[in-house]
Amino acid sequence: MSFDLSARLAERRAAHLYRQRPLLEAPQQPEVMVDGDRLLAFCSNDYLGLANHPEVIDAMQQGAAKWGVGGGASHLVIGHSMPHHQLEEALAEFTGRPRALLFSTGYMANLAAVTALVGQGDTVLQDRLNHASLLDAGLLSGARFSRYLHNDAESLAKRLEKASGNTLVVTDGVFSMDGDLAELPAICATAKQRAAWVMVDDAHGFGPLGATGAGIVEHFGLGMDDVPVLVGTLGKAFGTAGAFVAGSEELIETLIQFARPYIYTTSQPPAVACATLKSLELLRSEGWRRDQLNRLVARFREGAVQIGLTLMDSPTPIQPVLVGSSERALRLSALLRERGILVGAIRPPTVPAGSARLRITFTASHSEAQLDRLLEALAECWALLPKENEDA
Ligand code: PMP
Repeated sequence: MSFDLSARLAERRAAHLYRQRPLLEAPQQPEVMVDGDRLLAFCSNDYLGLANHPEVIDAMQQGAAKWGVGGGASHLVIGHSMPHHQLEEALAEFTGRPRALLFSTGYMANLAAVTALVGQGDTVLQDRLNHASLLDAGLLSGARFSRYLHNDAESLAKRLEKASGNTLVVTDGVFSMDGDLAELPAICATAKQRAAWVMVDDAHGFGPLGATGAGIVEHFGLGMDDVPVLVGTLGKAFGTAGAFVAGSEELIETLIQFARPYIYTTSQPPAVACATLKSLELLRSEGWRRDQLNRLVARFREGAVQIGLTLMDSPTPIQPVLVGSSERALRLSALLRERGILVGAIRPPTVPAGSARLRITFTASHSEAQLDRLLEALAECWALLPKENEDA
């Protein structure tokens, strides 16, 4: 017996599920060079346009000159440096919580928080549409793991009735493939009735949501009492890399003591923390970036409805266009690309079968003129796209 990898790959190709990595040949901006073509891109998570901000770049360069380019060791050995410490303090202040803990990626922050808080004999309940890292964390934890219907507090309540041990309710803040918001007030109230804790992964909410960009918890006016475990990622609106968990003194100490994905990995380069300190400052002070995003989203939704596209209930910069089959999603994405526009086709297993889509994302760096170019191209390509049952 040997591993038949070629059969596995061929099967994936035949199902229109084969994934390619576009090769970016110029910085992450609305106009990009990809695989030799100059394209207008609507697929970045750099929502506030900070990834190429000169002051953020300068902060990283100065950080590298001072601290070198590597973390050097794990945090508990000798990898925890002054920029990490300062960033943790700034993130705690930003989220209005006693402490924050820095991670190298959001994937690891999610694995760490869930596995440190629940294990055998406990229960973890998750929204069906949670990010893959949360679902993986639930499986890895060894706790009883069940998924409730998307954003459905009643479905959650039913599962809470059967829960045992410490119970953690976990939800994305903004759902990464649909762009909609978690119904946090109802979810938190339901969890509280059963003394369950709520953990929110607000990877896509920090930056775009809330009066100061502090995400979905700020958007709904909730506190640490409602959401004891708050996760944010830094590779999206912050424009840098990494993630954090914010919460009580005891929560953060528990993660430092028990979270294996925190303990057994090298700290992020301190220069990245220097860059994030600067982008946090900009994220808070330059409210016009959020305003520009909101304007773009409103204009896009209006235009898309006129074309007859099927949108989702999303008030965020993630604006999926539902297409149906994987083949049609790929075809639409290819037609747009022929017109110089880059938008990703999202297919199963990332989204449920039959709900393949274009995942259009906006950043504050997009102009109204660029958005109009997208709408014109969408109108043209949508008209050319064979209907579902006409697929070749
Ligand atoms: N949570 C959500 C909701 C995400 O969308 C992502 C990234 N796609 C992550 C976590 C993982 O974050 P990171 O990319 O920093 O690992």
